[in-house]
Amino acid sequence: MAMIFCRECGYKHSDRAKACPKCGYVYEETLTKKANKLVNGKSIVVYLIFCWFLGILGAHRFYAGKNGSGLAMLLMSTVGFILVVPVIISAIWTLVDLIVGICNINTPEKIFVKK
Ligand SMILES: [Zn+2]
Repeated sequence: MAMIFCRECGYKHSDRAKACPKCGYVYEETLTKKANKLVNGKSIVVYLIFCWFLGILGAHRFYAGKNGSGLAMLLMSTVGFILVVPVIISAIWTLVDLIVGICNINTPEKIFVKK
């Protein structure tokens, strides 16, 4: 256990404290810590990787527990491949999911389906 100084009042206390025991100053979680936070054992970082590489096949949606829309994307990119248009829709959908995923990197619970 290491000792740190409060950023607000300078009080020396344990680094495990989430807030200063003297003045109550709450330490914000770092962005990396938030991004690594697991929801139902799933990570937003893994979600984004799936979205980037296999997004057009709906892989990230299956990962997030959204099986219905995942299957829709998979079908549009495979069966719909002959028609071209469904693939374009799936690609745009993937891009939207990627942007929404990045915007919610601090709030991954919004992305994953609750069990
Ligand atoms: Zn303090």
